[in-house]
Amino acid sequence: MRLVRLIANLGYGSRKDVMALFRQGRITDADGEVLYADDQAAHAVIRIDGEPLDPPAGLTLMLHKPTGYTCSTKDPGRLVYDLLPPRFRQRSPLLSTVGRLDRDTSGLLLMTDDGALLHRIVSPKSGLHKIYEASLARDLRGDEAATFASGGLMLESEQTPLAPARMEALGLRHARLILTEGRYHQVRRMFAAVGNHVNSLHRPQIGGLSLQDLPSGQWRPLGSADLEMLF
Ligand code: URA
Repeated sequence: MRLVRLIANLGYGSRKDVMALFRQGRITDADGEVLYADDQAAHAVIRIDGEPLDPPAGLTLMLHKPTGYTCSTKDPGRLVYDLLPPRFRQRSPLLSTVGRLDRDTSGLLLMTDDGALLHRIVSPKSGLHKIYEASLARDLRGDEAATFASGGLMLESEQTPLAPARMEALGLRHARLILTEGRYHQVRRMFAAVGNHVNSLHRPQIGGLSLQDLPSGQWRPLGSADLEMLF
Protein backbone atom coordinates (compact mmCIF):
# COMPACT_ATOMS: atom_id res chain seq x y z
CA MET A 1 0.00 0.00 0.00
CA ARG A 2 3.07 2.23 -0.13
CA LEU A 3 2.02 3.50 -3.57
CA VAL A 4 -1.44 4.44 -2.32
CA ARG A 5 0.01 6.54 0.47
CA LEU A 6 2.62 8.10 -1.82
CA ILE A 7 0.02 9.14 -4.41
CA ALA A 8 -2.55 10.30 -1.83
CA ASN A 9 0.12 12.44 -0.11
CA LEU A 10 0.75 14.21 -3.41
CA GLY A 11 -2.83 15.49 -3.30
CA TYR A 12 -4.43 13.19 -5.88
CA GLY A 13 -7.21 12.35 -3.41
CA SER A 14 -7.89 10.34 -0.29
CA ARG A 15 -6.47 6.83 -0.04
CA LYS A 16 -9.94 5.59 -1.02
CA ASP A 17 -9.88 7.81 -4.14
CA VAL A 18 -6.42 6.50 -5.05
CA MET A 19 -7.55 2.89 -4.59
CA ALA A 20 -10.33 3.67 -7.07
CA LEU A 21 -7.75 5.00 -9.57
CA PHE A 22 -5.86 1.71 -9.26
CA ARG A 23 -9.05 -0.31 -9.77
CA GLN A 24 -9.87 1.74 -12.88
CA GLY A 25 -6.43 0.91 -14.34
CA ARG A 26 -5.51 4.60 -14.56
CA ILE A 27 -2.20 4.17 -12.74
CA THR A 28 0.51 2.72 -14.95
CA ASP A 29 4.26 2.59 -15.30
CA ALA A 30 6.17 4.51 -17.96
CA ASP A 31 5.45 1.76 -20.53
CA GLY A 32 1.72 1.91 -19.94
CA GLU A 33 1.61 -1.34 -17.90
CA VAL A 34 -1.18 -1.13 -15.34
CA LEU A 35 0.09 -0.98 -11.75
CA TYR A 36 -1.69 -2.43 -8.74
CA ALA A 37 -1.89 -0.95 -5.26
CA ASP A 38 0.51 -3.48 -3.77
CA ASP A 39 3.10 -3.24 -6.59
CA GLN A 40 6.53 -1.74 -6.02
CA ALA A 41 7.35 1.11 -8.38
CA ALA A 42 9.66 4.10 -8.25
CA HIS A 43 8.08 7.56 -8.23
CA ALA A 44 9.80 8.42 -11.53
CA VAL A 45 8.03 5.73 -13.55
CA ILE A 46 4.50 6.14 -12.22
CA ARG A 47 1.91 7.70 -14.54
CA ILE A 48 -1.69 8.68 -13.82
CA ASP A 49 -3.78 8.87 -16.97
CA GLY A 50 -0.44 8.82 -18.78
CA GLU A 51 0.91 11.90 -16.93
CA PRO A 52 4.00 11.73 -14.69
CA LEU A 53 3.37 12.15 -10.97
CA ASP A 54 3.88 15.59 -9.44
CA PRO A 55 7.31 16.12 -7.82
CA PRO A 56 7.83 14.03 -4.68
CA ALA A 57 7.97 15.29 -1.08
CA GLY A 58 11.01 17.48 -0.48
CA LEU A 59 9.72 19.89 -3.11
CA THR A 60 11.02 23.46 -3.15
CA LEU A 61 9.90 25.73 -5.96
CA MET A 62 10.25 29.30 -7.09
CA LEU A 63 7.22 31.26 -8.17
CA HIS A 64 7.28 34.56 -10.03
CA LYS A 65 4.53 36.14 -7.98
CA PRO A 66 2.46 38.77 -9.77
CA THR A 67 0.87 41.60 -7.80
CA GLY A 68 -2.70 40.95 -6.68
CA TYR A 69 -2.05 37.55 -5.07
CA THR A 70 -1.70 36.91 -1.33
CA CYS A 71 0.66 34.50 0.40
CA SER A 72 -2.11 32.83 2.37
CA THR A 73 -4.06 29.58 2.23
CA LYS A 74 -7.42 31.11 3.02
CA ASP A 75 -7.71 34.75 2.04
CA PRO A 76 -10.94 35.57 0.18
CA GLY A 77 -8.99 37.03 -2.77
CA ARG A 78 -6.54 35.44 -5.20
CA LEU A 79 -3.89 33.25 -3.56
CA VAL A 80 -0.41 32.30 -4.69
CA TYR A 81 -1.63 28.67 -4.47
CA ASP A 82 -4.03 29.46 -7.34
CA LEU A 83 -0.95 29.72 -9.58
CA LEU A 84 0.09 26.13 -8.84
CA PRO A 85 -1.65 22.89 -9.82
CA PRO A 86 -4.74 22.65 -7.53
CA ARG A 87 -3.48 19.34 -6.08
CA PHE A 88 -0.55 21.18 -4.51
CA ARG A 89 -2.88 22.51 -1.80
CA GLN A 90 -3.71 18.94 -0.74
CA ARG A 91 -0.13 17.68 -0.52
CA SER A 92 1.21 16.24 2.71
CA PRO A 93 3.48 17.67 3.97
CA LEU A 94 1.97 21.00 2.97
CA LEU A 95 3.78 23.40 0.70
CA SER A 96 4.31 26.69 2.57
CA THR A 97 5.55 30.05 1.39
CA VAL A 98 9.05 30.87 2.61
CA GLY A 99 8.32 34.20 4.23
CA ARG A 100 5.80 36.40 2.46
CA LEU A 101 5.47 39.03 -0.19
CA ASP A 102 2.65 41.55 0.20
CA ARG A 103 -0.30 41.34 -2.14
CA ASP A 104 1.00 44.39 -4.01
CA THR A 105 4.59 43.11 -4.28
CA SER A 106 5.76 41.05 -7.24
CA GLY A 107 8.80 38.85 -7.59
CA LEU A 108 10.63 35.79 -6.39
CA LEU A 109 8.70 33.72 -3.86
CA LEU A 110 10.01 30.40 -2.61
CA MET A 111 7.65 27.65 -1.50
CA THR A 112 8.68 24.43 0.18
CA ASP A 113 7.44 21.41 2.11
CA ASP A 114 10.81 21.13 3.83
CA GLY A 115 10.40 22.72 7.27
CA ALA A 116 14.11 22.71 8.10
CA LEU A 117 14.96 24.46 4.83
CA LEU A 118 12.20 27.01 5.42
CA HIS A 119 13.56 27.93 8.84
CA ARG A 120 17.09 28.13 7.52
CA ILE A 121 16.04 30.59 4.81
CA VAL A 122 13.84 32.86 6.92
CA SER A 123 16.13 33.00 9.94
CA PRO A 124 17.88 36.40 10.16
CA LYS A 125 20.90 34.35 11.34
CA SER A 126 21.24 32.97 7.81
CA GLY A 127 22.28 36.48 6.67
CA LEU A 128 20.64 35.61 3.35
CA HIS A 129 20.23 38.69 1.14
CA LYS A 130 16.73 39.51 -0.06
CA ILE A 131 16.96 42.02 -2.88
CA TYR A 132 14.13 44.45 -3.62
CA GLU A 133 13.60 47.12 -6.23
CA ALA A 134 11.29 49.93 -5.24
CA SER A 135 9.70 52.68 -7.29
CA LEU A 136 9.13 55.69 -5.09
CA ALA A 137 6.60 58.49 -5.01
CA ARG A 138 9.17 61.19 -4.22
CA ASP A 139 12.78 61.90 -5.19
CA LEU A 140 15.42 60.32 -2.95
CA ARG A 141 16.88 62.90 -0.55
CA GLY A 142 20.39 61.43 -0.61
CA ASP A 143 20.69 60.46 3.07
CA GLU A 144 18.63 57.23 2.89
CA ALA A 145 21.51 54.84 2.19
CA ALA A 146 23.40 56.10 5.28
CA THR A 147 20.29 55.87 7.46
CA PHE A 148 19.54 52.30 6.36
CA ALA A 149 23.21 51.25 6.65
CA SER A 150 23.46 52.56 10.22
CA GLY A 151 21.40 49.68 11.54
CA GLY A 152 19.73 51.87 14.13
CA LEU A 153 16.44 52.56 12.39
CA MET A 154 13.48 51.81 14.64
CA LEU A 155 10.19 51.16 12.88
CA GLU A 156 6.91 52.03 14.58
CA SER A 157 5.61 49.34 16.97
CA GLU A 158 8.84 47.33 16.74
CA GLN A 159 10.87 46.38 19.84
CA THR A 160 14.29 46.16 18.18
CA PRO A 161 16.07 48.35 15.64
CA LEU A 162 16.58 47.11 12.10
CA ALA A 163 19.75 45.35 11.08
CA PRO A 164 21.95 47.36 8.71
CA ALA A 165 20.67 47.30 5.12
CA ARG A 166 22.26 48.38 1.87
CA MET A 167 20.51 50.77 -0.50
CA GLU A 168 21.63 51.73 -3.99
CA ALA A 169 19.93 54.52 -5.91
CA LEU A 170 18.93 53.34 -9.38
CA GLY A 171 17.40 56.68 -10.31
CA LEU A 172 15.83 59.65 -8.59
CA ARG A 173 12.77 57.63 -7.64
CA HIS A 174 14.06 54.11 -7.98
CA ALA A 175 16.16 52.16 -5.47
CA ARG A 176 17.55 48.72 -4.78
CA LEU A 177 17.43 47.60 -1.17
CA ILE A 178 19.29 44.59 0.18
CA LEU A 179 17.92 43.19 3.44
CA THR A 180 18.87 40.30 5.68
CA GLU A 181 15.61 40.43 7.67
CA GLY A 182 12.00 39.98 6.69
CA ARG A 183 9.83 42.11 8.92
CA TYR A 184 6.23 42.94 8.15
CA HIS A 185 6.00 45.40 5.21
CA GLN A 186 9.65 46.15 5.89
CA VAL A 187 10.63 47.92 2.68
CA ARG A 188 7.48 50.06 2.60
CA ARG A 189 7.92 50.99 6.27
CA MET A 190 11.61 51.77 5.82
CA PHE A 191 10.91 54.24 3.03
CA ALA A 192 7.98 55.69 5.01
CA ALA A 193 10.44 56.24 7.90
CA VAL A 194 12.57 58.45 5.62
CA GLY A 195 9.62 60.46 4.32
CA ASN A 196 9.00 58.59 1.08
CA HIS A 197 6.37 56.19 -0.22
CA VAL A 198 6.80 52.97 -2.19
CA ASN A 199 4.62 52.98 -5.31
CA SER A 200 5.65 49.54 -6.49
CA LEU A 201 7.91 46.83 -5.16
CA HIS A 202 9.55 43.85 -6.83
CA ARG A 203 11.92 41.18 -5.45
CA PRO A 204 14.12 39.85 -8.26
CA GLN A 205 16.53 37.84 -6.14
CA ILE A 206 17.15 35.94 -2.89
CA GLY A 207 20.81 35.14 -2.17
CA GLY A 208 22.32 34.12 -5.50
CA LEU A 209 19.02 32.85 -6.86
CA SER A 210 17.16 35.11 -9.27
CA LEU A 211 13.99 34.88 -11.34
CA GLN A 212 15.95 35.23 -14.58
CA ASP A 213 13.45 34.77 -17.43
CA LEU A 214 10.72 32.98 -15.47
CA PRO A 215 7.53 34.73 -16.65
CA SER A 216 5.18 36.37 -14.17
CA GLY A 217 2.70 33.84 -12.75
CA GLN A 218 4.92 30.84 -13.60
CA TRP A 219 6.79 28.48 -11.28
CA ARG A 220 9.52 25.88 -11.51
CA PRO A 221 10.90 23.29 -9.10
CA LEU A 222 14.35 23.99 -7.65
CA GLY A 223 17.17 21.48 -7.99
CA SER A 224 20.20 21.07 -5.77
CA ALA A 225 22.24 23.55 -7.87
CA ASP A 226 19.52 26.20 -7.29
CA LEU A 227 19.44 25.52 -3.56
CA GLU A 228 23.21 25.92 -3.37
CA MET A 229 22.74 29.47 -4.66
CA LEU A 230 20.87 30.28 -1.46
CA PHE A 231 23.64 29.47 1.01
N1 URA B 1 8.85 44.55 2.26
C1 URA B 1 7.62 45.00 1.99
O1 URA B 1 7.27 46.11 2.36
N2 URA B 1 6.78 44.21 1.29
C2 URA B 1 7.12 43.00 0.84
O2 URA B 1 6.31 42.32 0.19
C3 URA B 1 8.41 42.55 1.11
C4 URA B 1 9.27 43.33 1.82
